[in-house]
Amino acid sequence: MITSQHYFVGNAEIFRVTEQLIDLPPSKLFPDHQEELSTVDLPDKLTLSIHSWIVRMPNRLIVVDTGIGNDRDRDGSPFFDHLHTDFAEHLASTGVDRLKVDMVLMTHLHIDHVGWNTYHDGIEWKPMFPNARYVFSEQGLEHWRHDPKRQTIYGDSVQPVLDAGLACTVDQAGSMDLGDGLRCVSMPGHSPDHSVIALESDGMYALFGGDTMHHPIQVSHPHWNSTFCEHKLGAVGSRHKVLQWSAEHQALYFSAHFASSSAGRIERVAGNPGSYTWRFV
Ligand SMILES: [Zn+2]
Repeated sequence: MITSQHYFVGNAEIFRVTEQLIDLPPSKLFPDHQEELSTVDLPDKLTLSIHSWIVRMPNRLIVVDTGIGNDRDRDGSPFFDHLHTDFAEHLASTGVDRLKVDMVLMTHLHIDHVGWNTYHDGIEWKPMFPNARYVFSEQGLEHWRHDPKRQTIYGDSVQPVLDAGLACTVDQAGSMDLGDGLRCVSMPGHSPDHSVIALESDGMYALFGGDTMHHPIQVSHPHWNSTFCEHKLGAVGSRHKVLQWSAEHQALYFSAHFASSSAGRIERVAGNPGSYTWRFV
């Protein structure tokens, strides 16, 4: 089990529950930037973390992104197919009662962000958080519903939530107030339905950046897209917005895939507008 630091932002306590770590060569993560890769100092393998963030407030218990999930038929993918991780046990061991989770937020509908929406009880797929509202992007949901390639994942990770009447949707056109200082803000590019989750509590800020970035090197190289980014120009534009907002608000940034603590600060480089540095905390 990978233990996580607990962070405090106003009245919110935030910590991570890790599902698994994945190693990728830099050239596989950033295939469009082969020449520039030789100019930076990176290890042979970059570690990506797949995890959920838990946000605990006096009257709220929220899960942000739900990983890959166990027992899934994922076409033999070495990273996703028929996993048997101890995520559920790990979640419980942090003191999170899944029955008390009141909201599940997904930054976007990709395979590594929706899995633990459900679990298999030996007979059928059931919502993992049966007393929560699951907030889906309306656009993402509509896209998956009609995409023949996504029917398996839709069936095991989305449909059971819809069938249980636990889903609500946000319109990708703007931002949506989720209460208690939480706001879902559309930030398309990595995927058309991609959002970030901003939190303001007692004058302090946090940002759950989803897949705006996959590795801290993108803070200093915001024009680098990962191989997973669907709309390259949009992803770069959203990355700049997120960097600027995080620096301006001195926000704690909670990444969906950075390894180490997965959390940190984005700071402006003095005298160099538009340039930023990353510091793990
Ligand atoms: Zn992801």
